[in-house]
Amino acid sequence: MKAMLLEQQNCPLSYTEVPDPKPGEHQLLLRVLACGVCRTDLHILDGDLPLPKPSLILGHEIVGQVIEKGAGVDKFSIGDRVGVPWLGWTCGECHYCLAGRENLCDQARFTGYQMDGGFAELTLADPRYCFLIDGYYSDISAAPLLCAGLIGYRALKLAGGGDNLGIYGFGAAAHLITQVAVDQGKSVYAFTHEGDTTAQDFAKQLGAIWAGSSLAVPPKPLDAALIFAPAGTLVPAALEAAAKGATVVCAGIHMTDIPAFPYRLLWGERVVRSVANLTRADGLEFLALAAGIPVNTHCVAYPLSRANEALNDLREGKLSGAAVLVPSMG
Ligand SMILES: [Zn+2]
Ligand SMILES: [Zn+2]
Repeated sequence: MKAMLLEQQNCPLSYTEVPDPKPGEHQLLLRVLACGVCRTDLHILDGDLPLPKPSLILGHEIVGQVIEKGAGVDKFSIGDRVGVPWLGWTCGECHYCLAGRENLCDQARFTGYQMDGGFAELTLADPRYCFLIDGYYSDISAAPLLCAGLIGYRALKLAGGGDNLGIYGFGAAAHLITQVAVDQGKSVYAFTHEGDTTAQDFAKQLGAIWAGSSLAVPPKPLDAALIFAPAGTLVPAALEAAAKGATVVCAGIHMTDIPAFPYRLLWGERVVRSVANLTRADGLEFLALAAGIPVNTHCVAYPLSRANEALNDLREGKLSGAAVLVPSMG
């Protein structure tokens, strides 16, 4: 099969022919129909996260068709269209797993990280961590739901109640979670790079009632804030904009250092927390909800062979919505 291989961080991925993967007893073999490009892929490529193995296939927003099943697999049928998220495997035995907090599993393995992912024509997946994809979505439009949507949704849940929601960094996750928050009756305030009128217009088009620069003071104090951009400076900025009792959720896997800030910003029972990974329950809940609202994804499709261009466009903030790789485009 053709795959985009990460062999060295800070170097472009190489479009290479590699042996077809063979499913183990408890694995599915999937033909990749589409695979979203996530900021985490960029963090792995750019060396913000360690490289877990010498030759890696990135990609953890996979929409694939089941073409072969291991002998021990009793879930899904040949031909089913399934989604593969970031959480690829957990031990099921540690105190986190036993407490329903598998997102924190000490032994967890992640798709497109410890396990090869979807920047390829074929991939393997553990069916216990896959989801059926609703017929409402095309292959391309379903892909961003699997991380941007799903981890964004977990971040929204962890932000607690309150009507006024700030969203910092208006990329793939924000454009989906804005639609969910608006459906829940929340007022969304979108914070972007200074002067990024494209992102601000996009946010308003999706239902944000206000959009401005990340350091601006919103018209009302925020009851909660989600930070999707990987900039630690946004934490004190969000606290400054937050009401007493508000929760500020850092939703990315990597963030630059958070600068020192005065205690008065945290005072008043304001909370700063991170969100790590996802549980399968988050996935089932979000995917059902997304198709019901419906949450519409805005995607820019690239052929698999042009993954480097997609990653660069994401790094440079050129995308409105999400980049998705499509192997059948070549
Ligand atoms: Zn991701
Ligand atoms: Zn575990």
